[in-house]
Amino acid sequence: MKTLTAKMVRQLEAQLKTQRAAMLEAARAELVRGEEQSYATYAGEVPDVGDQAAAALMVDFDNEIARRHGVAMRNIEDALKRIKEPYFGVCIDCGDDIGIERLTVFPTAIRCVTCQGMREKTYAHGAIPTL
Ligand SMILES: [Zn+2]
Repeated sequence: MKTLTAKMVRQLEAQLKTQRAAMLEAARAELVRGEEQSYATYAGEVPDVGDQAAAALMVDFDNEIARRHGVAMRNIEDALKRIKEPYFGVCIDCGDDIGIERLTVFPTAIRCVTCQGMREKTYAHGAIPTL
């Protein structure tokens, strides 16, 4: 019982890719501001930043993007992988369809509304220590 059509899946995939691009864009813009500040301080002391240092900086840069946006980016990457699979759009807890309405709002959703709600309740309850 698969209610998602190929067209819906393609739309969701496009949506996820747009989200990923927007997130990378935002992450870069945010990092560039930070790097400019730290670079200005640093450049006064070391005027010659060689290729090696620049390369190292780029690696740091990518790591920093991954770190700051790690969870959200990973969710999107995972969803983009899952979208190729036959079980995409199926709740990982109960096996029911997540539903196109929910997926359109949250393409990264892995649970149906009911299971997500139960999980959040469980979490909220578990977070309060019982004495
Ligand atoms: Zn479910």
